[in-house]
Amino acid sequence: MTTINPNLLKLQSNYLFADIARKVAAYKESHKDKRVISLGIGDVTRPLVPAVINALHDAVDEMGRAETFHGYGPEQGYAFLRDAIVANDYAPYGVRIDADEIFISDGAKCDVGNFQELFSADSIVAVTDPVYPVYVDSNAMAGRAGEPGPDGWSRLVYLPCTRENDFVPDFPKTRPDMIYLCYPNNPTGTVLSRAALQGWVDYARREGCVILYDSAYEAFITEPDVPHSIYEIDGAREVAVEFRSYSKTAGFTGLRCAYVVVPRELRVSDGKGGKVDLHHFWNRRQCTKYNGCPYIVQRAAAAIYSDEGKKQVRAVIEAYLDNARLISDAVRGMGLDVFGGINAPYIWVSVPDGMTSWGFFDRLLNDAALVCTPGAGFGRSGEGYVRLTAFGSPEDTLEAIERLRSVR
Ligand code: PLP
Repeated sequence: MTTINPNLLKLQSNYLFADIARKVAAYKESHKDKRVISLGIGDVTRPLVPAVINALHDAVDEMGRAETFHGYGPEQGYAFLRDAIVANDYAPYGVRIDADEIFISDGAKCDVGNFQELFSADSIVAVTDPVYPVYVDSNAMAGRAGEPGPDGWSRLVYLPCTRENDFVPDFPKTRPDMIYLCYPNNPTGTVLSRAALQGWVDYARREGCVILYDSAYEAFITEPDVPHSIYEIDGAREVAVEFRSYSKTAGFTGLRCAYVVVPRELRVSDGKGGKVDLHHFWNRRQCTKYNGCPYIVQRAAAAIYSDEGKKQVRAVIEAYLDNARLISDAVRGMGLDVFGGINAPYIWVSVPDGMTSWGFFDRLLNDAALVCTPGAGFGRSGEGYVRLTAFGSPEDTLEAIERLRSVR
């Protein structure tokens, strides 16, 4: 009989969101008069902006006429979008990226999940703790994570990020081959300063590692010392791949568009004493397994770089950041320490002394009919924290803040 990939059998079910849903359902059942508000939403709630909708309509019309119909597009994405990315996401920060170093896709989740295919099966992988689970599970599926245990996966190198190290990971004792960094961070909402990121780029150059830099929340950066791209850092083109997404930037979670930057200088060992080019192999991989992001979606993404598109998208981001400020202030008013929320839609709250993440989750639910995400669900170092998100409507956010005041 055919045998399953044994690594899939090692994957642990992610019970986090199922457990939350179960507890919320039980609460609703016994409190039929209460309206539950979620501060745990990981999806955007505001609709697509008019510039995007207009571009979609126009592109759909093009698809209905023989003269303007588009069939298969380039696997790497259309030039109109790759050029707009160079001009708008990189040139203003003094970063030189060539359009052909950009690969358009239908999501950063697949890109960060797929990119590990380029590395040898025995590569050592480092992840921050807490962590966005895709980095861990995609490497576990490929057999790189070893065995799961109470302290995590046996072959993964964990980089704890807690208030003790100001959420800046220390360099690991074991040299990894691949390092996943996500800034602004999900779930903590914290960022790396320019100096801290320079430290990681220097480390990767010294040790011969590749940094997989997930920048899905770049659009939320507000502070001047926070780099918008890892390529603002000297030497990064030789060691880093950057992942971006339109999901949270422009409400594309249901439309799907993202991109990866793979600089030409990024080379790794061929295992035989020579070096090979990751750009070449990512292109080879994409051309084999991916047939391109839809034309109409790429037109929609390009529309966010028009003058009106920029203004409209910015207004949505500002509204989420306003929510984040209001929520952070309300939680501080409860006497709790708050991290993130300034350059990210995520607020990381240190739970009261003596309580666990889940204990605080229960407290918020029972006292205020509010839902949060227990930090322990993102890794061992997430214990003692909960994640709140700023993606709710302004009305729900204001009501949630009122309710937070009533929590004991
Ligand atoms: N990377 C991080 C850190 C995320 O939090 C998310 C979405 O939650 C993604 C990537 C996925 O983005 P996309 O919607 O483009 O697949």
